[in-house]
Amino acid sequence: MPQAEAIKQLAQKYNVSEKQIQTDIIYLRMCFIFAEQSKAKRLKVGEFVLTKQGIIVPGYNGTAPGTSNECEYVDPNTGNLVSYNHIICGLQNGIYKAAREGIPLVDGTGYSTDSPCPRCGPAAISVNLKRFVYCRQYRIIDHLPIMEEQGIQICHIPYEIVFPEKGSQECSTPNIKKSLRQTWQSMWKQKSMKLLKKMRS
Ligand SMILES: [Zn+2]
Repeated sequence: MPQAEAIKQLAQKYNVSEKQIQTDIIYLRMCFIFAEQSKAKRLKVGEFVLTKQGIIVPGYNGTAPGTSNECEYVDPNTGNLVSYNHIICGLQNGIYKAAREGIPLVDGTGYSTDSPCPRCGPAAISVNLKRFVYCRQYRIIDHLPIMEEQGIQICHIPYEIVFPEKGSQECSTPNIKKSLRQTWQSMWKQKSMKLLKKMRS
């Protein structure tokens, strides 16, 4: 579908102007730039809240200030990369930053590379965001209707519309595959080293 037609359809779907969708796309692209700051290996999430007054409060997923930058560990049973429980999401980091600086978020709009997780959804309700715009769909989405019930307009602009020059490729997937491959490679290396030692002894 041509980009102009896709934008027109999204504007109709969410009952906003085409200009608003075009602006949303620019803001979502900014989220992907913020996401580059994330030290997470599994999924880099970039977000920001645009306040009613037009202030941008950015956030990306990571650890608390001053603590280790390690966001994940390798599960010894599966070899998978697993996020630590103490990781702070992008939106939460933005909310904490706003609290530190005394910036009101009421009636602001959340922009994010990814749909809000089950922890960020209630946080968005608590600070009274009026809109939430995201690009990639996170695997757990059953809390999104609750956000809508509480008056937050959720707007999903798919990756291929945010990045028409890249097509429909999901940029998170190669990262995950790459990190998993690296994990497996290092595990394989350790295993074969052990085996070598055993054979030599
Ligand atoms: Zn979250």
